[in-house]
Amino acid sequence: MIEFKDVSLVYPNGTQGLKNVNTNIKEGEFVVIVGLSGAGKSTFIRSINRLVTPTSGQLLVEDENILAYKGKSMRKLRTKVGMIFQNYNLVKRSTVMKNVISGRLGHTGTFKSIFNLYPKEDFALAYESLKRVNIEEKVYSRADQLSGGQQQRVSIARVLTQQPKIILADEPVASLDPPTSHQVMKYLKQINREDKITTIVNLHFIDMAMEYADRIIGMRAGEVVFDGPASEVTEQT
Ligand code: ADP
Ligand code: ADP
Repeated sequence: MIEFKDVSLVYPNGTQGLKNVNTNIKEGEFVVIVGLSGAGKSTFIRSINRLVTPTSGQLLVEDENILAYKGKSMRKLRTKVGMIFQNYNLVKRSTVMKNVISGRLGHTGTFKSIFNLYPKEDFALAYESLKRVNIEEKVYSRADQLSGGQQQRVSIARVLTQQPKIILADEPVASLDPPTSHQVMKYLKQINREDKITTIVNLHFIDMAMEYADRIIGMRAGEVVFDGPASEVTEQT
C-alpha cells in the first residue's frame, strides 16, 4: 500500500528530516510511529500526502511513485489520504457540520456551503460520520465551543466524510488528557478495523503505542531504528 524505498529528505536549511528510510506498510495496517521530538515522525507522515517532499528515493502509494506527482495527481492523492492534526485544524467559527462536510465537498462545494445548502447525500454521509464518533448532537454547534476531545472527534468525522484509503494522524492526542487520548485512539482503531483504512499515527508515548498498534516504527534522527510488531518492543528500544 505504502512503500518507502531509500527515502531521504533534507530541509532547505540542511536539516536531515529523513535518512534512507526503507519500509512497507500493508493495506489495513494500524502503524504507530514513535520517537523523541525531532526524530522525523512528522516528516515521515507528511511525506505520504506530500505536505513535504522527500529529496531522494521513491515513495509508492498503491504502486505509484507519488514523488513525481503534481497538479491533478496531487489532488487525487490528497483525497485518498486523509489527515488528522494535533490541533484539530477546524474552522473555529464554523459549525461542526460545515467543518465535516468540507471533507467531502472540496472546492466545488464552497458556494453551496456558504448558504448551508448541502447535497443530500453529502449531508447524510457527514451526519453518519459524526454518529460514528458519537458527536452528532453537536452538529450545529460552533467548532470553537467544543472541548479538545470533541474537536478531535469532529476532525475524525471530517476525515471519514472524505472516504480516504489512508488516514495519517500527526500527534492526534498530544493536546489531550489521558482518558480523552484513549477515547480518540479507540475511535481511530475502531475505524481502522471496520473500514479497513490503513492508519498511521505519530505518538510520543510508547505505552500507548503498544496498546493500539499492530506494528511500531521507531525513529531517531530521521532513521528507522525499530520496525516490528508491538509485542517485540522492549525497554531497550
Ligand atoms: P518529530 O515529528 O519526530 O518531532 P519532525 O519530523 O518534525 O520530527 O522533525 C525532524 C527534524 O527536521 C527536526 O530536526 C526538525 O527540527 C527538522 N524540521 C522539521 N521541519 C523542518 C522545516 N520545515 N525546516 C527545517 N527543519 C525542519
Ligand atoms: P513537532 O511537534 O512535529 O516537533 P514542531 O513544533 O517542531 O513540530 O514544528 C512546527 C512547525 O515548524 C512544523 O511545520 C515544522 O515543519 C516546522 N519546523 C520544525 N522545526 C523547524 C526548523 N528547525 N526550522 C524550520 N521549521 C521547522
